[in-house]
Amino acid sequence: MKRINRRNFLKGTFFGGAAASLGLARKSSAAAFEGYPEGMGVLVDLTRCVGCRSCEAACNKEQGLPEPEKSFDDYSVFDEVHHGQKRRTDEGAYTVVNRYDVPGQDHPLFRKIQCNHCNEPACLTSCFVNAYTKTPEGAVIYDPSVCVGCRTCMVACPFYIPTFKYSSAFSPRIMKCVFCYDTRLKYGRPPACVEACPQEVMTFGRRRDLIKMGHERIKENPSKYVDHIYGEHEAGGTAWMYLSGVPFDQVGMDTHVPKEPILNFVKDFLGVVPMVLVIWPALFAGFHLLATRKDALTGHGHSEKDGEDQGR
Ligand code: SF4
Ligand code: SF4
Ligand code: SF4
Repeated sequence: MKRINRRNFLKGTFFGGAAASLGLARKSSAAAFEGYPEGMGVLVDLTRCVGCRSCEAACNKEQGLPEPEKSFDDYSVFDEVHHGQKRRTDEGAYTVVNRYDVPGQDHPLFRKIQCNHCNEPACLTSCFVNAYTKTPEGAVIYDPSVCVGCRTCMVACPFYIPTFKYSSAFSPRIMKCVFCYDTRLKYGRPPACVEACPQEVMTFGRRRDLIKMGHERIKENPSKYVDHIYGEHEAGGTAWMYLSGVPFDQVGMDTHVPKEPILNFVKDFLGVVPMVLVIWPALFAGFHLLATRKDALTGHGHSEKDGEDQGR
């Protein structure tokens, strides 16, 4: 099956922009794409999570990420607050678990965060160099070899997932969960984090089966669950979806994410802005790349921390 990347969505980069500036964006092939019906997903049942962080450790190992400063059995990380926010994914952690003390609950609640692998990903739609691909299996993967480091995808993602890293001054790259695509998903195997969970919080399967399973679980136990699967419709639907025993905003989830794919907003945006604004991120990226090369040559490198601070 043909993979979807931004080229398929918007018929190319500058050509897409040119079409948009001429008011033609709505005629792109993007309008017809509504995700892969056979795509895989994960149903995350937040009522089962005990915050053990085994999923974080498994992801770290599977993805060959650096050892964290604090070990995975150090639960003081749940008290960390950065810029007024709980922990977020970053270049060293494609998934993190946070604790929520919800009034009326006799125990803390926990939520695992990672890329939700949207059916119609805003990161992909916004990328002007086609660095992102939605695979038929359901993963949203990223090709660092074409990334110019403009960080438009970071702004576009409704779940604040992509983070930025300069692996060297010449190789800007985005870091995010890849659904264990190369090592597992493409062979039909569940992700490492799913397999490692001792509580069976996560169920791996066909997205459409998981939606059915989620609704059955809610129906069988209506007092245990909120009557909603987060991700069934949010942002046009996501491969990773959630069940919760408390309203989703009480465990830090954005309940204002539009039900429509973010793609639709991008298309509207492309339809009304002048060409110069459409191509600005690409121009910015070019200047940025030149600047980092100059810094590297003059010895004023751009540190990874700098990159983070300039992000969000
Ligand atoms: S959650 Fe964000 S990074 Fe992941 S696929 Fe959706 S838009 Fe892209
Ligand atoms: S799916 Fe793979 S890459 Fe994503 S959080 Fe789980 S282990 Fe990490
Ligand atoms: S491994 Fe399972 S129970 Fe432990 S923190 Fe992760 S999702 Fe929660």
